[in-house]
Amino acid sequence: METMTSPIVIERTGNSRLREIDFNNLEFGKHISDHMIVADWNKGNWSEPKVVPYGELRMSPSILALHYGQAVFEGMKAFHMKDGTINIFRPQKHHDRFNKSLVRMCMPTIPYEMFMMSLRALIEVDKDWVPTGEGSALYIRPLVFASEARLGVKVSDQYKFVILTSPVGPYYSKPLRLKIEEHFTRTAEGGTGFAKCAGNYGGAFYPTQLAKQEGFDQVLWTDHKEHQYVDEVGMMNVMFVIDGTLVTPELNSAILDGVTRDSILKIAREMGLKVEERRVSLDELEQAFISKSITEAFGAGTAAVVAPVAIVNFHGTDHHLPPIDASSIQLKMKHALLEIRTGAKPDTHGWNCIVRV
Ligand SMILES: *Cc1c(COP(=O)(O)O)cnc(C)c1O
Repeated sequence: METMTSPIVIERTGNSRLREIDFNNLEFGKHISDHMIVADWNKGNWSEPKVVPYGELRMSPSILALHYGQAVFEGMKAFHMKDGTINIFRPQKHHDRFNKSLVRMCMPTIPYEMFMMSLRALIEVDKDWVPTGEGSALYIRPLVFASEARLGVKVSDQYKFVILTSPVGPYYSKPLRLKIEEHFTRTAEGGTGFAKCAGNYGGAFYPTQLAKQEGFDQVLWTDHKEHQYVDEVGMMNVMFVIDGTLVTPELNSAILDGVTRDSILKIAREMGLKVEERRVSLDELEQAFISKSITEAFGAGTAAVVAPVAIVNFHGTDHHLPPIDASSIQLKMKHALLEIRTGAKPDTHGWNCIVRV
């Protein structure tokens, strides 16, 4: 692996916006911290990443990302620890997924050391942007996009690597009403579903908007062939509790390998819960609602951690889940994760990456 010897160059803003932020009312993604990381890929190499004031980038309207969709991102979080340090949660797994997405989109990967040095430098500079309130965090958005300016269809020879951060509060999702999507698909096996690429989101908006017009909050995505097996919910992995067992669709190339999904499955197994990763059919789900053996359904992802489901609609009929309470598995998982991330419980998995500030 390449080693970076020189420290990251930092150009500080003379005009911090920190005082304008109401840390008690943080709307997800609304405020972007004072600084960002920028690096450029040119002639087969990444330039040294720099910390610069957050602001506009000058771009040609012909950059290839805008026309042919070479754009990949990540979403992760940093937390304030009880001892005053800052913890980036599972950056190694996020980095690994970032590179898998980049390879799928014919884009240059980011060396691990470059990724970690950039994250550390950025968070050290903007440490005061990491909120301290319970359940709040600094959301971190690394991204790479094709920046070569030309119109011909081709794999870009130039890219930009950027990291932005944004303080976010605790995310209370109102329990979701789900429409089972039996017409549209988010992705297909063999496609780009496992990659966090911009196009997956662009293609998911329309079916989601139709579902919202019909009074739903989100779509329960099913497989592209038969529309019979569950893939994900909205832009989250989906989990069910059936007969006391935590059940989630097994990964395939159409499903994103969520870090939250992976963390919850590991914690659940350690707590002695029965966990199953396998195909989950709509028939099984409908039967589980009829027999009342399904007690929970929830989305799992970095932004919300867990997002409870209230209703799943099967062919015009609403099936209700019981309201969540303190004994709900999804809340236990959420709290267990938070305790590890903030240092209240030991990090036995090596998930925490401490930044000393
Ligand atoms: C980001 C994302 C998730 C959740 O992944 P985490 O690593 O847990 O944040 C799930 N599904 C899709 C489609 C996503 O883009």
